[in-house]
Amino acid sequence: MANILILGGGFGGLMTAEHLSKSLGGGSKHRVTLVSPKDKFTFYPALVRLAFGDCDAEDISFDLPEKLNELNVRFVQGEVIKLNLNLKKVQVTGDDFDGEISYDYLVIAMGRRLATEKIGGFFEHAHHLLGIKAALKFGEAVKSFEKGHIVVGLAPQAFLPVPVCETAFALAKDFEREIETKEISVSVVFPETVKTAFGGADLHQKLEKAFANHHIKVITDFAVKEVTEKAIVSDGGQKINYDLLMLLPPFRGQAMIGKHGFTDELDFVQVDNFMRVQDLEKVYAVGDIAAFTGPKLAFMAVRQAQVAAANIASEIHGRVPVKIYNHDIAVIIDEGGDDAIFLHYGIWDDTLHGLKTGKMWSRMKNKHNQLWEVVRDG
Ligand SMILES: Cc1cc2nc3c(=O)[nH]c(=O)nc-3n(C[C@H](O)[C@H](O)[C@H](O)COP(=O)(O)OP(=O)(O)OC[C@H]3O[C@@H](n4cnc5c(N)ncnc54)[C@H](O)[C@@H]3O)c2cc1C
Repeated sequence: MANILILGGGFGGLMTAEHLSKSLGGGSKHRVTLVSPKDKFTFYPALVRLAFGDCDAEDISFDLPEKLNELNVRFVQGEVIKLNLNLKKVQVTGDDFDGEISYDYLVIAMGRRLATEKIGGFFEHAHHLLGIKAALKFGEAVKSFEKGHIVVGLAPQAFLPVPVCETAFALAKDFEREIETKEISVSVVFPETVKTAFGGADLHQKLEKAFANHHIKVITDFAVKEVTEKAIVSDGGQKINYDLLMLLPPFRGQAMIGKHGFTDELDFVQVDNFMRVQDLEKVYAVGDIAAFTGPKLAFMAVRQAQVAAANIASEIHGRVPVKIYNHDIAVIIDEGGDDAIFLHYGIWDDTLHGLKTGKMWSRMKNKHNQLWEVVRDG
């Protein structure tokens, strides 16, 4: 019997569990366990819609233990506080469980950490929308905003351009009249170019045209280093004043795994093309925590989970892993109408490039089940 332990209950962890459950078969003699501090799965791509009152928190999350039960996967609610790779054990603490869990195969899917400490003044002055509470709080600030300059931006190493673009579009839609009368203006800030933010995908012309159509000013090559009460400050000392700020902070891997020697300088886990953690046997990593270039998206987490699960199943059946991961993006950037963009781009193979625009992509993004299919199947 093989004991497979998955750390994290987001896109990466849940999809690994689902694929393993299918490939190992119902009533399998193998045991799959998933550990997560929360008993809810949150559909993050809908957080911008939540902030702008287009859906409720209950619409974008579901009960994780119930879903795992259907998959015949054991759920342990708790936080991983230590990995003991030599003894193949993980230390977990939580209300219901406090102790060690052994494994034969380990899947690290603990997502990314928000390194807010890297931007002075972030905690005091900036909004973000990388969780339900934060999105609702930003939504309240938007509701009570009457006049001035709204800045939405990506800090350096915040590998998630989609919600920044979508927030700017949602603001432009909400404040269409005030933007027309120049009472309100909206700017979107990128640390480098728009193209770099999307991993090299050549979509900047379409995106910039959509921003222009909505009177959103695009500011590139502005690496935010500090936030004051009234302005964002770049590493070169330039300032942009704001009256309301939504800024995505730098991302990092989970600090507690950094000391094991398999992470890069940002604490992301280095994996090979089979999603195996470098130099470790039977240890895999998937999702935002894996060290890959370009944006970090659910689309990638889901495909990496497929690869890891297939290779673990091969190993369990005594075969060598053969399924290989290819690093590409498929994403919808919703501006609520005709300019919505669907992008499919191969970061490792730039001959793979598809870019489509139209209302249909906006409609699709607003239907979670259809978006889930895009994320899952490309
Ligand atoms: C606002 C927003 C909009 C987005 N839009 C899109 C989009 O349009 N398209 C797209 O493809 N992607 C989008 N993404 C990105 C996508 O949500 C992420 O890439 C995806 O969630 C990554 O999945 P993951 O499983 O690696 O990490 P997460 O989903 O972050 O899951 C990590 C899991 O690990 C758990 N965990 C953390 N620490 C521990 C610990 N110590 N012990 C145990 N468990 C732990 C967490 O609780 C969580 O369950 C968006 C994200 C946000 C925030």
